[in-house]
Amino acid sequence: MKTSVLPSPPTEPVYLPVSSVAEILYCPRNFYYRVVEGATEENVFVIEGKLQEERRNERERVIREDSLQIKSIMIGSEELRLVGVVDAIEYRDGLCPVEFKRGPLRDNVNDDVQLAAQAMLIEEHAKLSVDHGYIYYSQSRTRRQVNITPELRELVLRTVDVAFQIQESGTIPVPVLDARCNGCSLAPRCLPEEIQYLKGQGKKPSKPLPSINLGRVLYLDEPGLYLGKRGERLVVSKDKKVLADIPLCNVDEVVLVGAINASGPVVKLLLDHGIPLNYITSFGRYRGTLKPAWSKNSPLRLSQYQAYLDPTVRVELARRFVWGKVANMRTQLLRANRTRKSAVITKAIERLQQVVHLVRERELNLGTLLGLEGSATREYFQVFNELLKSPLEFSFPNRNRRPPRDPVNALLSFGYALLTKDILSAIEMIGFDPYLGFYHEAKYGRPALALDVMEEFRPLIVDSMVISALNKNVFSPEEFEQRLGACFLTDPARRRFYDLYETRRKEMVTHPVFGYRLPYIRIFELQARFLAKVVQGELTEYKPFLTR
Ligand code: SF4
Repeated sequence: MKTSVLPSPPTEPVYLPVSSVAEILYCPRNFYYRVVEGATEENVFVIEGKLQEERRNERERVIREDSLQIKSIMIGSEELRLVGVVDAIEYRDGLCPVEFKRGPLRDNVNDDVQLAAQAMLIEEHAKLSVDHGYIYYSQSRTRRQVNITPELRELVLRTVDVAFQIQESGTIPVPVLDARCNGCSLAPRCLPEEIQYLKGQGKKPSKPLPSINLGRVLYLDEPGLYLGKRGERLVVSKDKKVLADIPLCNVDEVVLVGAINASGPVVKLLLDHGIPLNYITSFGRYRGTLKPAWSKNSPLRLSQYQAYLDPTVRVELARRFVWGKVANMRTQLLRANRTRKSAVITKAIERLQQVVHLVRERELNLGTLLGLEGSATREYFQVFNELLKSPLEFSFPNRNRRPPRDPVNALLSFGYALLTKDILSAIEMIGFDPYLGFYHEAKYGRPALALDVMEEFRPLIVDSMVISALNKNVFSPEEFEQRLGACFLTDPARRRFYDLYETRRKEMVTHPVFGYRLPYIRIFELQARFLAKVVQGELTEYKPFLTR
């Protein structure tokens, strides 16, 4: 696989944020994510720093010990190719920068070099020499004088050069993998321990911190419902009667199923707060998602397009998605057959094993992969009826869709639609283009990459949930209705199905490679992040999520 690609050198001058000189020294990979990929992840330390900055900036000018301080000055330099906000410029006998930092008083070369860069920017603008500055540490309420020595100036220039090299080459620096990673807000994106472990160079990773929200989903599916807003609250009504009034802070995602209307102001409110609004048809088909603008991670999308155009890379990734799906379908049958001991299921398991073997070991083209995956899926669904305890109540003739014509297919289609929206959220959050897949062909409006990534999860999340619900009599045949040749879940059945799906996606599962336990919804994100690292050349192979 190749390293990530970046566009041709821009013709306009490019500036780096002045804070990047400290970021590069602290962790070049952190700099790459923040500046090249536009990462904006924050943790409690970052947020605390921002709040302190806001409080400081409430007063633009202050007199401090007989010297004038002017706060938050934007300053840039074409020569240094740096731009940024200097926390304060102080005037006493001359000009000097003042930088504010969280935490206690300390000696830190990263802080010093950032201050030196600010001093050099001021010198260029004021045409004055700046020979010192101050760093104020909020926890100790003390400031430290830093002399702007020739060595510090030299370090600024060298660091800026390194920053531009990383930016122009688009190569992702290796993880520093030390105490700096503890509490780093970018760790869930960076996955430093996992990368080292997969490369055979490190110990088993500890559990990563959450980055995707765990989802409080508002499902609305009763025909005639209307979603509006009142201030920062979502108001659900029908025939002008308010049925629910929910604070926005209690909702991470909204799903509208069938003919539900949402007002323009509520759509704007959701977009402003980054809350996705998903649409699913009453047949249980994923229609799309309204969400804020795309992630800024254009380098990842460029790498994705390049991987798509490389036939070897494309087939290799497609092979791994199919491998994951067929292997997990086989596991599903194996689990079900532990007690049943059915000869027909055993036969199907053997055939699926043959397909897994072929997909893993042989060089295949996309056409052959499609054929193998199709035959494995047929084989699997041919014995699906055997997995149901009372097939007389809920028989499964074959897999049919668009529209599903019987209750079991209606449940499967509905589950796949919900899974599509979750996988789509994960891959979009990371910065992929969801409409360009490696296995599924690009078609107008089809989230091909989401369909690729969800292959390995279909049997684990949806099929097993549907079988288990039917075998535990969670649904009765009367809770389905036939209309216009399609089978629909009635309202109570659909609500129960949402609960089942929510429980399943939050179910904790042990990661087969890393050994830590995560909810499925975080596994979706983890797999999408590994796919990004393969596409960008950091990992050589995509490992599908396989369970035993
Ligand atoms: S987790 Fe570690 S390697 Fe990754 S960006 Fe943060 S400090 Fe750097």
